Amino acid sequence: MESILEVCHLKKYYHSKKGEMLALKDIHFALYPGEILSIVGPSGCGKSTILSILSGLISPSSGTIKYSPAIKIAYMLQDDCLLPFKTVLDNCLLGLKLTHSLTEESKDYVLHLLNTYGLKDVIHQYPSQLSGGMRQRCALIRTLALKPDILLLDEATSALDYQSSLIISNDIYQIIKEEKKTAIVVTHDIPLAISLSDRIIVLSNHPAIIKSIYPISFDSSFTPIERRSNPQFTNYYEKIWRDLDVTL
Ligand code: ADP
Repeated sequence: MESILEVCHLKKYYHSKKGEMLALKDIHFALYPGEILSIVGPSGCGKSTILSILSGLISPSSGTIKYSPAIKIAYMLQDDCLLPFKTVLDNCLLGLKLTHSLTEESKDYVLHLLNTYGLKDVIHQYPSQLSGGMRQRCALIRTLALKPDILLLDEATSALDYQSSLIISNDIYQIIKEEKKTAIVVTHDIPLAISLSDRIIVLSNHPAIIKSIYPISFDSSFTPIERRSNPQFTNYYEKIWRDLDVTL
């Protein structure tokens, strides 16, 4: 299968008053259409730096990224960044308004997403009236409104309690698969990555290199929550945990 994006030998130095710091040493991987690829690694190892480079927010010091032609990328940050003074519907339409692409058709698509993913009854409510999980779904729909091909998700569930995080990971998985998107998920949460992903990249401590890449295969009918109770889940967990440079 042809890749949708190819990251070729990325290196990134940050410059500060203390001098030069190598954050990424050598990052090289391909992303395939329709897959959810997770990047896991210890805190501070360079995961967000990779997403910032892929989204064009910062430039690599060296290396290249090859995108398929006309690919649209959307970046969903850790904080849901919903505007408190706008309703759910207006928050979800915001990106379309800012990019001058709000049409009857694009609004219908947003309403369809809100209906399909359980926010139909709250479209005129404000973010403060929603649960953490609903806010996250709202942020995801706002991101999908622009019809991106690739979604970049940075620690999308880390601000939530454990139960909400389980539920939203189910929702994220269902939405990405049903809307036929490709996604890169950055997380320090190994169980979350195993429950969602088709492949997992494990990074070393910084400066980051790729320590290993694991294809994750479960019955395709399993939800992320069902994956967690499958015996295979523990096997993946043990392998990935062993690869992480964590000192206790
Ligand atoms: P992660 O997402 O894995 O927690 P980051 O990509 O945020 O890691 O950061 C990787 C390393 O780069 C960390 O040591 C962090 O302190 C450093 N870093 C991140 N952003 C900057 C910056 N703008 N300037 C200097 N150092 C930075």
